[in-house]
Amino acid sequence: MSEEFIVKTVKLTKEYGQTVALKNADIAIRRGSIYGLVGNNGAGKTTFLKILAGQTHATGGSFILMGEDNEKGYKKARKRTGAIIENPGFYPKLSAKQNLEYYRIQRGIPGKDIVDRMLEQVGLSGAAKRKFEKLSLGMKQRLGLALALMGEPELLILDEPINGLDPAGIIEVRNFLLKLNQEKNVTIIISSHILTELQNIATDYGFLSKGELVEQISAEKLREKCKAFLEIKVTDAERYAALLETELLCSNYKVLPDGYIHILERVDNVSDYSALAVKHGIGLLSFEMKEINLENYYMNLV
Ligand code: ATP
Repeated sequence: MSEEFIVKTVKLTKEYGQTVALKNADIAIRRGSIYGLVGNNGAGKTTFLKILAGQTHATGGSFILMGEDNEKGYKKARKRTGAIIENPGFYPKLSAKQNLEYYRIQRGIPGKDIVDRMLEQVGLSGAAKRKFEKLSLGMKQRLGLALALMGEPELLILDEPINGLDPAGIIEVRNFLLKLNQEKNVTIIISSHILTELQNIATDYGFLSKGELVEQISAEKLREKCKAFLEIKVTDAERYAALLETELLCSNYKVLPDGYIHILERVDNVSDYSALAVKHGIGLLSFEMKEINLENYYMNLV
């Protein structure tokens, strides 16, 4: 399979009665990428992932999954997909290994040794005999990964896998996913409501808000966009803002409630901005180049 996009949706829509969980979403996920799906609670992340995994049906629009565009084709594609959406439903009294063995048989995956290989791959060989209920949260998440990876998928769909993990657990899961992506070229779709959790791992982002895809952007472009802005505090922010528009033809700025002004364009010409204040007798209280924090970028977006 050599198509560029492993997933491509056109106006994908899901309505639950009156609730529109996903609305006309055009999402394109490159093969080999780690796609960070970011959105607040209720933004529609789980709904989108469930549609891909076949756990619910779209009510509008269409999608292509691994080159397939109909139910029969999706079934084939899903055999090459691993997903952890909500609780995988492990048995608390069974050991890590017994749980995997149970699902291996249920899914008709041949070869008993795959269970040991998967446990090893996620670093759980030492805890193979431990009951599920006695595993740490990080270990439980990794066991979920082992289950999702059992069919040796090309596409891995993970709904909030980092949720509830401590910092060490986050690093552990993150490194594991990076390795999987880089060494085995597994495409990963990973959702989170915290953008910064994904910033060391995602190569592309889709931002969902109230069911709508508000932006889709590569990590590289996002970094570029977040590069720099100028933060100015003047004695008369309103007059200064008006002058920005009329004299410097600057429209990409924001006046914050605390009187600070953020200028997001032509930040290379900083002297123009200080000269403007001086020319009109407006006091310049502070003047600083800053980076946009990813979380702020996202908050502005939604
Ligand atoms: P969260 O991070 O809270 O899981 P999310 O971004 O994954 O949020 P979804 O779970 O996809 O969001 O939910 C999107 C919207 O659809 C929400 O308003 C939710 O209440 C609604 N919704 C989801 N599943 C159902 C369902 N089975 N029946 C009715 N409404 C639903």
